[in-house]
Amino acid sequence: MSSLSAHYPKKVTLTNCDKEPIHVLGQIQPYGFLLVFDKKSHTLSRVSQNVFSFFDISKKSLRDYDVLSIFGQIGGLKLENHFKSINTKPIEIEYKKKSYVTIVHYTQDLIYAEFEPVTDKTVVVSQYDLSEIFSELSNATSVEDMCTKTAHLIRKQFEYDRVMLYKFDEEWNGEVIAESCAVHKNSWLGLHYPATDIPQQARALFLKQGVRIIKDVDAVSSSVYPPIDEKGNALDLSLCELRAVSPIHIEYLKNMKVGATLTAAIICNGMLWGLIACHHDSSKFINYYQRLTVKFLTQVFATQLTLRSSNEVLQRINNTASQRSLLVKQMSDHWDVHRGLTTYPCTFLDVTDADGGAIYLNKNLTVIGNTPKKESILKIIHWIHKSHNENVFKTNKLEEIFTSDENLSGEAAGVLCIFLKENATDCIIWFKPEIIKTIKWGGKPTKIIDDVNHRISPRKSFDLWKEIQKGVSLPWKDYEIASATSLVDSITKVIISKYDEVKKLNEELQLAYKDLETFSYSVSHDLRSPLRGISGFAQIIKEDYFDTLDDYGKTSIQRIIDASNKMNKLIDDIISFSSLGKSHVSLGNFSMQEVLSEVFDFLQVNLLYKHTKLIVQDDIGDVYGDRAMIFQVLVNLLDNALKYSHTKDQPIVKIGKIIDGSSVTYYVKDNGIGFKETHSNRIFEMFSRVVDDRQFKGSGIGLAIVKRIIERHKGKIWTESVEGEGATFFFQLQKPEI
Ligand code: ADP
Repeated sequence: MSSLSAHYPKKVTLTNCDKEPIHVLGQIQPYGFLLVFDKKSHTLSRVSQNVFSFFDISKKSLRDYDVLSIFGQIGGLKLENHFKSINTKPIEIEYKKKSYVTIVHYTQDLIYAEFEPVTDKTVVVSQYDLSEIFSELSNATSVEDMCTKTAHLIRKQFEYDRVMLYKFDEEWNGEVIAESCAVHKNSWLGLHYPATDIPQQARALFLKQGVRIIKDVDAVSSSVYPPIDEKGNALDLSLCELRAVSPIHIEYLKNMKVGATLTAAIICNGMLWGLIACHHDSSKFINYYQRLTVKFLTQVFATQLTLRSSNEVLQRINNTASQRSLLVKQMSDHWDVHRGLTTYPCTFLDVTDADGGAIYLNKNLTVIGNTPKKESILKIIHWIHKSHNENVFKTNKLEEIFTSDENLSGEAAGVLCIFLKENATDCIIWFKPEIIKTIKWGGKPTKIIDDVNHRISPRKSFDLWKEIQKGVSLPWKDYEIASATSLVDSITKVIISKYDEVKKLNEELQLAYKDLETFSYSVSHDLRSPLRGISGFAQIIKEDYFDTLDDYGKTSIQRIIDASNKMNKLIDDIISFSSLGKSHVSLGNFSMQEVLSEVFDFLQVNLLYKHTKLIVQDDIGDVYGDRAMIFQVLVNLLDNALKYSHTKDQPIVKIGKIIDGSSVTYYVKDNGIGFKETHSNRIFEMFSRVVDDRQFKGSGIGLAIVKRIIERHKGKIWTESVEGEGATFFFQLQKPEI
């Protein structure tokens, strides 16, 4: 059979103490009575044991009782009507000439009625006091001031020995941020308490109930009867005013030498922000009406607090709005996100309180301010991307969750990272350094496991215990996250509009290529037929009438033939250049040796350059690139090398490669005429020739084609030459993707 103890974990450890079932402990504080009725029949279903000594109720047959049989005609009818209308307003019921405040709440099947003897009914806060409180709180100069005023006000009204405002941090540790206490008490202001002091299930109940008192830590609780129902369930006392507290908490309070408490939850935007915690040395009772007043005061305080924090956030966001629009302008001016965000006096760091940051976009990382090394930043970004699903990641204790060989806390104890696109590591990341500070704990924050009962017992000492906190940065405030997120949204918009712009330009470029190609073909067609005519007729004259011509006529005919051949070559080159832009680069591995043999055949090397010594490095190996395009590159480079060296006595052309780490550089070297070093860039321009036109034929397009192809391979090309001694052309290609 199930029993109450079954709700307890077999062994309470530091990790499962959060599971202590404090809402079904089956005990109430004995300053009142609990009667639980069936919602349908209104008959009695459960009671607190202390009922039997006050009410004329027999333990044996609870179901025989209803409100009329217990409270008689007047009180009974009053309650019956209350129940029928599901009324939750407290009402006063008389029983044996004593008045009780009855607090009723309903669940799906049950009606809970709690009876507290009426003590002092006076409403503690008058209208005058109320308006005083309002104006005092709204005149407070800061949140701290408001908290202190509230602590004083509550103590003045309810005369507890100590009233504290306790604020939770992100990990639910608490800090006493304001206090008002009796002269005989030591101040606890500024002390911290670990999250385990108010475990998660207690915090959840605070959210539900708002204000709670413990009238007397020494009072013996009254058990619920029967402890479990027919289904074996204990009674859920979550919403009961009288609910007894956990024995661990009572022990904790006794260790603290506290006799009675009142706790009010400060709830902002639906979240538990903190508590108003009142302690009294001895037993102390605050009646239901007074508790309502505390609840009301706490709500006023929480509203003021929410208002102030929202105003502060709004103001800070507004302050950064002008910076954000300036940053967007800077980015759009040059269509450059990196430059726009980092090189002007206003940088992306200004939208937060960060000391350093980085932009990671299209595999480029730009850093500013106080940051870890670039490699570490990349590791952090990849780790966040891999291990967190959200777009926005923040921590002020990176060290605790990210393992690194180096100490990152000096620059990056705090990290705020916002990704720009889904499923990509492009992001903006901000860093805050660690702030080393001393935390004053109210006792060493550990719980002791009692070996005998296997229960956690709270610490016995609440003496000041100092801890040096390291590896923690200032927290990321809401307004920082809001501003950073807005900035990232703007960046995304800039990137999208840039993308649209590029897309449009690309479309225009494609059209231009098409036009250029059509133009080139029509030019070639229109020029080639008259050219063929000129060259054909010149050939006929040369073959049939050559002897009849004088010397001038003979050289003129030869010039016409040479010029038309040159023009034919020029047309070929223009067509080949214009078709380069539109063709797709299809990358792959292929044998360099094989391509070179094809190039030699194509250039008729054996026939035309018999005297040239052609050397190809033995292990020239494979190349990664577009085969047809690389063929074109080699044709042009070798054609030049052969052409511009064949006038030498012993022309030598060498093709090889240089390996440096992971990069491979190919080269074509000759011992020909070379050129002045100052021409080394010019020669890659269209129609740029730096040789004597009469001696060396050419169109000045070959190297422009070569450069274009290498650029389309995301590689680079450069040259070295000594005039009269030869030239070497080097090129590198894009590395294969792994
Ligand atoms: P061209 O048809 O004139 O060779 P290129 O674009 O291939 O056109 O080359 C441009 C110019 O660069 C050439 O006119 C020549 O002046 C120079 N050049 C190219 N390769 C060499 C080389 N191997 N040795 C000397 N000069 C060269």
